[in-house]
Amino acid sequence: MQPFHAEIIAIGEELLSSESETLDTNSVYITQQLGALGVRVIYKTTVGDDEARITEVLRIALQRVPIIITTGGLGPTVDDMTRQAVARAIERPLVFQQTLLDEIAAKFARFNVRMSANNRAQAMLPEGAVAINNPTGTAPGFYVIHEGAIIICLPGVPREMKAMLEQSALPLLRQWIGAPRVIKTRVLRTAGIGESHIDEQIGHLERLSNPTVGLNAHAGQTDIRITARAESEAEAEALIASVEAEIRAKIGDYIFGVGKETLEQAFADAVRRSGLRVVIGELYTGGMLQRRLSKATFADGVLRFAEQGVLERLRSQMQGDLRVVSEQMAAALRLEHGVDAALVVIAEAESSAMAATDGLELRSRAYFYGTDMTTPEVPSGWALSMGWHLLKRRVSAQT
Ligand code: AMP
Ligand code: MG
Repeated sequence: MQPFHAEIIAIGEELLSSESETLDTNSVYITQQLGALGVRVIYKTTVGDDEARITEVLRIALQRVPIIITTGGLGPTVDDMTRQAVARAIERPLVFQQTLLDEIAAKFARFNVRMSANNRAQAMLPEGAVAINNPTGTAPGFYVIHEGAIIICLPGVPREMKAMLEQSALPLLRQWIGAPRVIKTRVLRTAGIGESHIDEQIGHLERLSNPTVGLNAHAGQTDIRITARAESEAEAEALIASVEAEIRAKIGDYIFGVGKETLEQAFADAVRRSGLRVVIGELYTGGMLQRRLSKATFADGVLRFAEQGVLERLRSQMQGDLRVVSEQMAAALRLEHGVDAALVVIAEAESSAMAATDGLELRSRAYFYGTDMTTPEVPSGWALSMGWHLLKRRVSAQT
């Protein structure tokens, strides 16, 4: 068991019912909050209001993680089973806590609502458990430590859950795990290399525990996220730097930026450094490339976009498969516009192709994906990364 691994157990029949529209937003929220603490959620379980099943789920969780957070099932009614299930899972009795009942009663008095007899059930906690105050509702939460694991039980109502997480559970967890003072993340952004190829190169780093390394692929780009825990900023930086250096040594050629840096801006920088004038032609992408590149800064007159009519004319004149067509169009556009380089992307229903040329070199690719994959975001991303690679290569050849 890893010390910073957690499981979230969402409890409630409404989360499983085919009629209900309740989404398990609690688990998503808790995952984010734990992440900021450096705690990683490795399982999420959803279970209905059934004491035996909740008990079983808790027992399984106790075997695989040291941090368990439950939401739901803390109300006063018969279908609220969390207290009983936790008691059973850790084989302790439920004990009545008079002070807890007094607190609940005081709340009812304050809200000017009559307390019913079954609210007494909410003052029953597993032996050794500590109540967690609910500042915005009546149902208290609780936590209990059992054989090196901590179980924290919060109500299902999102507003109450959030308040208790923030005010009580997170400070408690931070203390309990002896959370490191500093958690630092650095995201290396890559383009033009598939997630599986990255994995091949740096897979061994993805098994590290500090720093951790994870991949996240989206629309032709893959982010590599490095997260370090340490006692000081400098120590965290050093942990990240050593892993980053190893990643750069293997696939540095595909890293276009870090953090919030965009491929659009990387492309613009490559255009500027190359000193080339570039024409861009895009067909059936809904102007995606132009829209994306409008967010980056180019010198005046360096970048042009071919007219739709011109592109359609060229397309109709050319034969052969889409990749060959994209190559021919790139070459033709470059000459027609009298510029140094051309980048072309064509996104058709069943496939897409892109080509980039600077007169010295011609690159192209075709992808065969259904229409779902060829939403313009994807081929335009691939085209941008192709253009970026070509221009970058030109710069390094010059120097
Ligand atoms: P409970 O604490 O189980 O009585 O839950 C009270 C209410 O909170 C439910 O009726 C749901 O509307 C909501 N709720 C319970 N669990 C969740 C969850 N995991 N995510 C979002 N809302 C929830
Ligand atoms: Mg419920």
